[in-house]
Amino acid sequence: MQKREQSFGIQMLSVQPDTKPKGCAGCNRKIKDRYLLKALDKYWHEDCLKCACCDCRLGEVGSTLYTKANLILCRRDYLRHHYALLDDRFRTKGAAVERVLKVKPGQI
Ligand SMILES: [Zn+2]
Ligand SMILES: [Zn+2]
Repeated sequence: MQKREQSFGIQMLSVQPDTKPKGCAGCNRKIKDRYLLKALDKYWHEDCLKCACCDCRLGEVGSTLYTKANLILCRRDYLRHHYALLDDRFRTKGAAVERVLKVKPGQI
């Protein structure tokens, strides 16, 4: 059975001073902030877990992120992307039909 939505939870964790700093999956630097985000089994700076589309900070938007073709997206962009892809398929078809209809003799 296939999951229709590729959504993953985001956890905000407070960093314990006595633990070794974790590396951020976004920028590969050590996370020295008081809080870090955990998502997709990786650790992130609050600033680094961003939507690939609109750059919003996913830790702030909600506690869920979506993935599509290795991109990390917020819910809004995930849905937009999802429907844009569907749209495109129809548009391509429609455009081809339109082009044929629009070409009149003498126009070329
Ligand atoms: Zn980072
Ligand atoms: Zn977004």
